[in-house]
Amino acid sequence: MRAPKPLAAGNWKMNGLKASSSEIADLAARLKAAPAGCDVLICPPFTLVASLADAAAGTSVAIGAQDCHAKASGAHTGDVSAPMLADSGASFVIVGHSERRADHGETDADVAAKAAAVQAAGLPVIICVGETEAERVAGREVEIVSGQLAGSIPADIDTDRLVIAYEPVWAIGTGRTPSAADVEAIHGAIREKLVARFGAAAGSMIRILYGGSVKPDNAKELMSVANVNGALVGGASLKAADFDAIIGAW
Ligand code: PEP
Repeated sequence: MRAPKPLAAGNWKMNGLKASSSEIADLAARLKAAPAGCDVLICPPFTLVASLADAAAGTSVAIGAQDCHAKASGAHTGDVSAPMLADSGASFVIVGHSERRADHGETDADVAAKAAAVQAAGLPVIICVGETEAERVAGREVEIVSGQLAGSIPADIDTDRLVIAYEPVWAIGTGRTPSAADVEAIHGAIREKLVARFGAAAGSMIRILYGGSVKPDNAKELMSVANVNGALVGGASLKAADFDAIIGAW
């Protein structure tokens, strides 16, 4: 069975100023000199999508966004739509990050509507799922993540443009990670759900990223786990040397 090409995605969250364009040009130059064994994506805040997409044009670095509105346009002050992001040069959009679910009360239905909007704008979507610490302690992680997958992936999804990011909430920004065995178990369960819903051919080619305190010193181990097809990296994507080392895990 073919395996999906790994993806190393950096989520800059609410970090980054105009000067970051030069960081992207530097990253692209380094990847040109030493091509990575994975696709590379940086998701800066909205304010930087257009300038970083310009800086990365013609290179192997893709630029994406961290969220979007479910509607294409309209009276939604302060929001940004998927067609606007596509127009700005974004080539991916993350939806359903646990910080959006927690800070903005986003439900699975909201996430599904945003995911559909991303694909309607012609872009691939990264849908985030993951359990809280209390849910993990209660042994409910598979149940929680299965429910999120069922509710957050829209009915008419194009699986060729779908990436799932498994991010246990308790591992994000904490320096803690699940054991390799725990990652293998939950990624295996996610794969089973994808194969059951979309069939073996499509379901086995959907990338499942692991996210949550991926660092240079744990990337190789985490990325060698079965059904881990890449990483969604927060804090460590802000430091060039750390992100380079994570990209080097392949
Ligand atoms: C994230 O927020 O997507 C994330 C994985 O953060 P960190 O790598 O900092 O834990």
